[in-house]
Amino acid sequence: MKTLKEVTLAEKILKEIRICNKCLGRQFPKFRPELSNSEKGILLKLFTITKIKGKKQEGYTWQDLLDLTEEQSCDLCGNIFTKIDDIVAKLIERLEEYEFENFLCGAKIPISLVEKEEKIKSEFKLRGESLRKEIVREVGLKLNKCLKKETNFSDPDIKIIFEPYNEEPAIRITTSPIFYSGRYLVRERGIKVKELIEEFFITNFDAESVKVTLMTVDNRLYLEMPFLVKIIHPKKRGPINNYNDLNGVVLSELKRLSRKEYKDKEFKAEFLIKVIIDDDLTRESKISELKENIKRKKQIVEVNFQNGVNEKEIIVIIGVCGNLNLLKMFSQSNLRVKEFKLIKIDDFKRKDI
Ligand SMILES: [Zn+2]
Repeated sequence: MKTLKEVTLAEKILKEIRICNKCLGRQFPKFRPELSNSEKGILLKLFTITKIKGKKQEGYTWQDLLDLTEEQSCDLCGNIFTKIDDIVAKLIERLEEYEFENFLCGAKIPISLVEKEEKIKSEFKLRGESLRKEIVREVGLKLNKCLKKETNFSDPDIKIIFEPYNEEPAIRITTSPIFYSGRYLVRERGIKVKELIEEFFITNFDAESVKVTLMTVDNRLYLEMPFLVKIIHPKKRGPINNYNDLNGVVLSELKRLSRKEYKDKEFKAEFLIKVIIDDDLTRESKISELKENIKRKKQIVEVNFQNGVNEKEIIVIIGVCGNLNLLKMFSQSNLRVKEFKLIKIDDFKRKDI
């Protein structure tokens, strides 16, 4: 009974418009779900023809079915599905310069076709998936097979948007950013550290641009400091080799991060500083003055004083994030730095601040 209902509906559609097998089959998602849209279309056309001619299905061979349901020009899709292989070939050509493990593709369809499809769907109360979705799925499946790469819906390495109805299919490709953390050590004073690191990552990943976040202290201190990098629109996706020395900046501990890890990441450094306190003022007032001075700096997240080293010295442990010129900060106060030592640099999450 159900088939009869669907055949009656198919007959109505076929009387009204010229439609290819795939587009007809797509309108009947619940009909014979084990069949492809093309097969559904062929079967519905056959049932309709048999019904009209009053003949029985058994009398037909498979070739007869194909002949009977030979593709006519389709009002709905303009026979776009005959061009899928050409579109896929052009996409593969464009993708040659990119490295990726997985992808996601999408398509832009002319609004006139979308409206025509909507009109037909509402006229016959159809609930099948859209033309755009079927084009995207067909192209996606062929790309899976040809490139041997998976589709990734949540976080693809590469996104491909194509316009199948353009004479020369317009293709827009965007790639997901890549994130790294690492340490850098400046060996020569006066060099442009940030620019060197930027250039290094742009070259390695054939990227459009990079965003480098450095934690810095006075470079006279020669400390290994942390950095983060976001590599924007990379054509290559690593790995990185030979990163030991970039003309005066040494990189180490490079680690690939996920998008979330990068977003959550901040730095925390603990510095051990021995400060000499003037004799003429009390120890307590000097300590509170120092504390106030340090706390005024926005980047400082934590200040701890460990007292009792000796009468004239205190140890300050400061947690900082971002840039901080510690030597300058102390030189502006009346306190003399006797010893300056980086104890450790921790990674910690922004929400912990
Ligand atoms: Zn069609």
